[in-house]
Amino acid sequence: MFENLSERLERSFKILKGQGRITEINVAETLKDIRRALLDADVNYKTAKTFTETVKEKALGQNVLTAVKPQQMMVKIVHDELAQLMGGTSTDINLKGNPAVILIAGLQGSGKTTFSGKLANLIKSKRGKHPVLVAGDVYRPAAINQLQVLGEQIGVPVYTEEGNTDPVKIAKAGIKEAKAKGHDVVIIDTAGRLAIDEEMMNEISAIKEAVKPHETLFVVDAMTGQDAVNTAKEFNDRLDFDGVVLTKLDGDTRGGAAISIRSVVDKPIKFVGMGEKMDALDVFHPSRMADRILGMGDIVSLVEKAQEQYDAEEARKLQKKIAKNQFNFDDFLGQIRQIKKMGNLKDLAAMIPGMGKMLKNVDIDDDAFKGVEAIISSMTPQERQNPSIINGSRRKRIAAGSGTSIQEVNRLIKQFEDTRKAMRMMTQGKNLSKMMNSFMM
Ligand code: GDP
Repeated sequence: MFENLSERLERSFKILKGQGRITEINVAETLKDIRRALLDADVNYKTAKTFTETVKEKALGQNVLTAVKPQQMMVKIVHDELAQLMGGTSTDINLKGNPAVILIAGLQGSGKTTFSGKLANLIKSKRGKHPVLVAGDVYRPAAINQLQVLGEQIGVPVYTEEGNTDPVKIAKAGIKEAKAKGHDVVIIDTAGRLAIDEEMMNEISAIKEAVKPHETLFVVDAMTGQDAVNTAKEFNDRLDFDGVVLTKLDGDTRGGAAISIRSVVDKPIKFVGMGEKMDALDVFHPSRMADRILGMGDIVSLVEKAQEQYDAEEARKLQKKIAKNQFNFDDFLGQIRQIKKMGNLKDLAAMIPGMGKMLKNVDIDDDAFKGVEAIISSMTPQERQNPSIINGSRRKRIAAGSGTSIQEVNRLIKQFEDTRKAMRMMTQGKNLSKMMNSFMM
């Protein structure tokens, strides 16, 4: 995602390398570069201009901090401004209401039906709700069928009315039935067109007027760049929606839509679609998106992802061990196995700062940890518990036992010690940003 933009931004920060501080003169070229990078990523012209002006103001207004290099400072300022531009903090959807009614609007092919399914799935599995889907795309039988298939897949009922071509009536009836059956959320999928037309706008407005949704979400394909922003503006002028859903962010998008939509339309992005599967939906966090755009990786979602997989009790125990510096090779092995269970290693590793670019052309698979696992398996239980007792001759034996070299054993033990130190620092909440900086530059 946004690889090109990330690389360009990183290059523009390098212009400041070796500078003692940020000055009007040395910042000018960096800013010119940043602006060009944004425009090439299809960011709205005005947005890019205002953005660089704000960054300049902030950069020149900064106190000179001896501990921070100008280029690091610039990364931080650009990061924070990007997050600000995308809305600052994340905005939740309104699920209050009995039932809460959520209306989904957007052009045909934007990903409305897929998103409706994903949202139902998320609300059901993560919010403990009992949603129902309403098939309001009455013109395409295939759309109704598609929603039914998705509903079945995620175990959410779908309300349809065969032969009825009045989406307003269907929506109202769907809500009535949901109420009768005790559902607390109703998600109404609607019909789109290939381009904006009056008929579609009238229809969706009529549905909105009739059902008075608690939340109206506008779905748009991020791949369409500036068009996405323009379409959002037109829909918002008519519908006054509550939030945007950017789909297909897993594809080769340049980033323009994600960066500009908020400043042009003044409505928050609430979700991003990251694939065709039902669980490929993320709540939108501006700050984390800024991390990704800057190619700093996304530590927070890495941790979140890990947490989802981890047994809470185990995690608590581990936390304690790390804090007491008792994290050992058995735990390390456990972690590796957890990571392997989590699936796509490359995706996961790409979230670690600085790794994304490095891994671009590298294949990593489960074998990546083979040597490490072999080495740990060749240690005695005592050694795994207390790595400091592993002396020179034992290292040789471990290398022989695991079919690796003594250098590899040494490297692993060194890496383990470093990781242990880093983890301890993290649990103590100290110097995290410093550590991240050292990964980056
Ligand atoms: P609708 O016409 O607005 O209801 O759009 P659909 O939900 O039918 O989606 C159109 C196409 O985009 C389908 O092939 C979906 O599988 C695909 N799609 C939807 N969301 C995403 C996403 O987040 N990522 C990717 N890669 N494909 C998506």
